[in-house]
Amino acid sequence: MPRYEYRCRPCGDTFELSRPMSESAAPASCPEGHDDTTKLLSTVAVGGSAKAGASAPVTGGGGGCCGGGCCG
Ligand SMILES: [Zn+2]
Repeated sequence: MPRYEYRCRPCGDTFELSRPMSESAAPASCPEGHDDTTKLLSTVAVGGSAKAGASAPVTGGGGGCCGGGCCG
């Protein structure tokens, strides 16, 4: 059975509960009996996939003016 971590506001402390996943979102009472608790995220967020090498096509240069004789 997975364990979930909760924080009790009145206690200002955290506690763990083992409960079915289907009840993970259900209100949890702290060991002291308080109902004002919030569920903490126990899983580490996955992110930060590096996206490297995405270079935009460089355009520019070459109006061709000076090659066509219009500059002189
Ligand atoms: Zn409490």
